Amino acid sequence: MSATGETTISTANSIASAREAARQHTATMLAERYYGRIAELDGEHGLGINSFLALSRERALAQAERVDGLLARGEDAGPLAGVPVAVKDVLAMRGAAATAGSKILAGWQPSYDATVVSRLEAAGAVILGKLNCDEFAMGSSNENSAYGVVRNPRALDRVPGGSSGGSAAAVAAGFAAATLGSDTGGSIRQPAAFCGVVGVLPTYGRVSRYGLIAFASSLDRVGPFTTSVNDAATMLGVLAGKDSRDATSADRPVDDYLGALAEPVAGLKIGVPEEYFGEGLDEEIKAAVERTIEGLQQQGCEIVRISLPHTRYAIPAYYVVATAEASSNLSRFDGVRFGPRAAEAKTLAQMFKLTREAGFGPEVKRRILLGTYVLSAGYYDAYYKKAQQVRSLVARDFLDAFAKVDAIVGPMTPTPAFKLGEKVDDPVAMYLADVYSVAASLAGICGMSVPCGTTRDGLPIGVQIMAKHFDESTMLRVGLAVEDLGN
Ligand code: GLN
Repeated sequence: MSATGETTISTANSIASAREAARQHTATMLAERYYGRIAELDGEHGLGINSFLALSRERALAQAERVDGLLARGEDAGPLAGVPVAVKDVLAMRGAAATAGSKILAGWQPSYDATVVSRLEAAGAVILGKLNCDEFAMGSSNENSAYGVVRNPRALDRVPGGSSGGSAAAVAAGFAAATLGSDTGGSIRQPAAFCGVVGVLPTYGRVSRYGLIAFASSLDRVGPFTTSVNDAATMLGVLAGKDSRDATSADRPVDDYLGALAEPVAGLKIGVPEEYFGEGLDEEIKAAVERTIEGLQQQGCEIVRISLPHTRYAIPAYYVVATAEASSNLSRFDGVRFGPRAAEAKTLAQMFKLTREAGFGPEVKRRILLGTYVLSAGYYDAYYKKAQQVRSLVARDFLDAFAKVDAIVGPMTPTPAFKLGEKVDDPVAMYLADVYSVAASLAGICGMSVPCGTTRDGLPIGVQIMAKHFDESTMLRVGLAVEDLGN
């Protein structure tokens, strides 16, 4: 544990302890206590973590008062009654600015709530504010935010991971009991691993995306960060389910995730993909993940060596598909409907151009260019279509594997959290930070990162657990077993 870690990690920061505190001292007092902690530590005069972009104080306190009323009357206030949470700034919340970490949306206030925001509040949660992230969720270190970098609470000179860096850091620093992030190619799981918290990528279609600012629509998903697997199950139970406002949300019953955690893992078949332990994997991470796999074996799991042969094509396929979809999604930001508009333009075309030139940061521009290129006539077949074909092969690898095993376990990241600034000038090195995360994204399956130890320097290590489409229950059971190992 780093010296700063001791002062920033709040060990009692669980949903159960927050609920209990709300019951004993009121949700209003609890919200104030969390706001006090954020005011003291998050900003430049504190630890400079910079995880919050905006606080939604008025709305939070109104919700806390509502919950307190219910509790005082002895009524059921929901599974998250009074629990302080926060959401990544790519999710719409009425009355709060939504920037997606970009200047092009500065000052824009959505007039509606994302479905996940409504669901959190219906479950009694108190939403404290909006969390910093890479611009339009593009990045692996949270250094692409137009509103400043986020520091890793476990080591302040290091990145928290990205793009949901603020969401991971806020939970790790004890600024919220749980948070929401979005994951397109790893943006929940990778920062969870870097910050030593639990992060869940639900199956594509499991959680509504209504009100999520889109990056790459065939990949984007919303999911929770928590301090424990149990809390992840609670959050997923609140978030999951069909939403008539999102045509891509699945009309399937939602499992009893907490109930599933009571089932032992003995007898489960755990696949260990050989491709995830090759060159480039940090030795300490490798050792920690192997220890974890041995621990699962001791709990009665059967370990099966498997192969996911198309793994090495996942990064290139992902960066073609994701940039193509991003170039299309981001065309809506043109100075007409959202955010600021370039004032000096003389023609409409010039207005689009100047607004986008000033509004987007360098990584977003790079991706729009790449995406436009791979979709253009003459290159479409060579790049975009090819990437979609590769995507099918990556997905088929998983289908074949899940015919033999119940879950797949491997490292979450090739390295622990890296230093701020270390990779900012090398986009390809940055893209390789996603080497173990993008395959599950392309395949649409569920995945999660669970802490499984620390390096000699005290940096958190995450293990990734993947399961087949809509089998979050099995994934969470394995996650709990990993957590129980106590590494
Ligand atoms: N790091 C990946 C990227 O930059 C993933 C981002 C994400 O999941 N939103 O695209």
